[in-house]
Amino acid sequence: MAAPTLAHHTQNGAVPPSAGLSPWARFLWEAPLLLSMLFTALVVIWAQDNDTLERKALRQSVMADTLSLEAQLAARLETEAVKLRAAATHLPPAGADPNQQLATLPEIAAGLDRRWLSVIWLDANMRIVAEARREQRPGTHGQFQSQAQGISLHLIAPTSDERRPQTGQLIARYDPTDLIKSKDFWWLAAQYEVQLLSGLGEVIVSTETPGQVARGETFETPFNAVPDARLRLTQRVRQPHWFTTLPVVLIVGFLVLISIATLLLRRQMRQVTRTEGAWRTEAAWRQSLEESALVGLRARDLDGKLLFANRTFCEMVGYSVDELVAQGSAPDAMVKTTQDHSAIHPTQRAGQETRWRHRDGRILDVMVFESPLVDGAGQQVGWMGSIVDVTERKRLEELERRQREVLSNHARLSTLGEVASTLAHELNQPLTSIVSYSAGIAKALGKQPGTQPDLLAAAQALSRHASLAGGIVHRIRSRLARRDLVLLACDVNTIVSDAVALLTPDLKRAGVAVSLSLDSSLPLVRMDRIGIEQVITNLLRNASDAMAQSASPRAISVRTALCVVPPLRDSAGWVTVIVTDTGPGLDGRDIETLTEAFFSTKKEGTGLGLAICRSILESHGGALYAQDAERAGACFSFSLPPDKASQETQAAATP
Ligand code: ADP
Repeated sequence: MAAPTLAHHTQNGAVPPSAGLSPWARFLWEAPLLLSMLFTALVVIWAQDNDTLERKALRQSVMADTLSLEAQLAARLETEAVKLRAAATHLPPAGADPNQQLATLPEIAAGLDRRWLSVIWLDANMRIVAEARREQRPGTHGQFQSQAQGISLHLIAPTSDERRPQTGQLIARYDPTDLIKSKDFWWLAAQYEVQLLSGLGEVIVSTETPGQVARGETFETPFNAVPDARLRLTQRVRQPHWFTTLPVVLIVGFLVLISIATLLLRRQMRQVTRTEGAWRTEAAWRQSLEESALVGLRARDLDGKLLFANRTFCEMVGYSVDELVAQGSAPDAMVKTTQDHSAIHPTQRAGQETRWRHRDGRILDVMVFESPLVDGAGQQVGWMGSIVDVTERKRLEELERRQREVLSNHARLSTLGEVASTLAHELNQPLTSIVSYSAGIAKALGKQPGTQPDLLAAAQALSRHASLAGGIVHRIRSRLARRDLVLLACDVNTIVSDAVALLTPDLKRAGVAVSLSLDSSLPLVRMDRIGIEQVITNLLRNASDAMAQSASPRAISVRTALCVVPPLRDSAGWVTVIVTDTGPGLDGRDIETLTEAFFSTKKEGTGLGLAICRSILESHGGALYAQDAERAGACFSFSLPPDKASQETQAAATP
């Protein structure tokens, strides 16, 4: 199926609403008419020119034909004249029957047979000697039958004998019509009307056919064979005017048709222009809507190929519309988008919430609404999606949730504080008693000979635990009473060793091996000893708990060192305690999550241990860190700033 084409625009601009047909293009519809008119004008000029040339040629042809006919007629008459002169020279002296004499003269008889109507013999006194007529000749079979009974012309030849040069005249009368209508000139008779005119312009003889008037080109020339006569040739058919010739008529008809077609075209053009104007307005409105919409819009064909995207959509994903359309499908960073999208049912008007990735890697929460995209014929060609960026809304919701959680934590903490305060208050007295009694028992057992060492060790451990518990309760009471902590310069290694020694029996029971690696050159740290010991024991307990389900060897390594902790930027280094275990690790959780109050993955956990540790460390100006160990397990560490004064003293004492 052919991909549907949709008008898409760049972020810089789109179809300018004002951009229509250029003024030239607006009048393009007139072009065929104008060109046709120009063509017609050229044809008319050509026809006129051609007509002039043809008329000139025709006139010359008529002239040539007239002169040719005149020459031929003159030649024929000259021949007749020569023959008459020959007859005149052969005339015998007039006898008893001169008429008979004349008619039987071979030259005369031949002349009468040929063309002559009659021959008259005149003597020197112009008296008729004899006369011979064609009609008198039996079985006349001349080439011509006389048709005109009217005007006739004659040839004259002088008669003479030996004694006198002129004794009379021989006059031969002939019909000029016979001459002109001679079949020898049939080709002329078909084309021309031939007329012989007198000097006064009267028609002596004409080849005019009744009912047919010759109207064409005419030419006159003096007919020298007959004194004062003129020969005129007139074309029977008149040369038509150039504007009545078929090509010109056809061209004019063509012009009329083109004019009608142009009118129809103009009407159509106006309609198209109106439609185009409406379309442009609509497109401009649509563009403004798309540009101003805060909702991302995008159109895809049925194969999921992107066809169109509006500015908001482009800003949302960080790609230009050209990049998106050129790629056809979603760019790499948007693969998730497409995958997610294909899961959305297109007719799901309620929209679907999903997550997209911006070009810069940022994650967006979006709501996608899809509806079918149809073409002009109502055929579905793809899907039109509107996308609402709900990231900010989500963030605010999350913030609100956290604030609610913090508030509820605060409420729980304050309740817990009250409980702790009451407990601390109530436990203080019994614990003090336990401490002093256990110390007394341990002392007494130590003095008594034969005391079992196990019993003595248990009494001493009891005394130490009791005094630690007493210290904790005391510390809690001091913190709750907002009394300042008593900070003393202490050796962290000692505290680490004490804490490990305190928990060793428990760790042994849990099958955990502890290894210590203590840096003996560490500076002293001003601290609340009980608090820091509480931090270390808490980290050790957590490590032991994390490995409780672990099948692999359970081991805790405790290391102390002077470290330059990047975020703290103290080039001298801070005293750092690092506790590493071989448990399951942190499962992607960061220190923020782990130190959230009440966050716990343990059944019996309170989720307060690490939060209290962090609070204790931060109250010392230190920090708590957590990360996965290099091989397996978790690595918790904390850093404390060294005590400057004791550090300087130590430096001075070192040789
Ligand atoms: P609690 O011990 O009562 O759960 P904590 O604040 O001490 O509370 O610990 C919070 C959570 O941190 C624990 O529930 C556990 O999921 C995680 N955690 C602490 N230490 C470790 C460790 N060493 N290895 C893995 N997870 C740990």
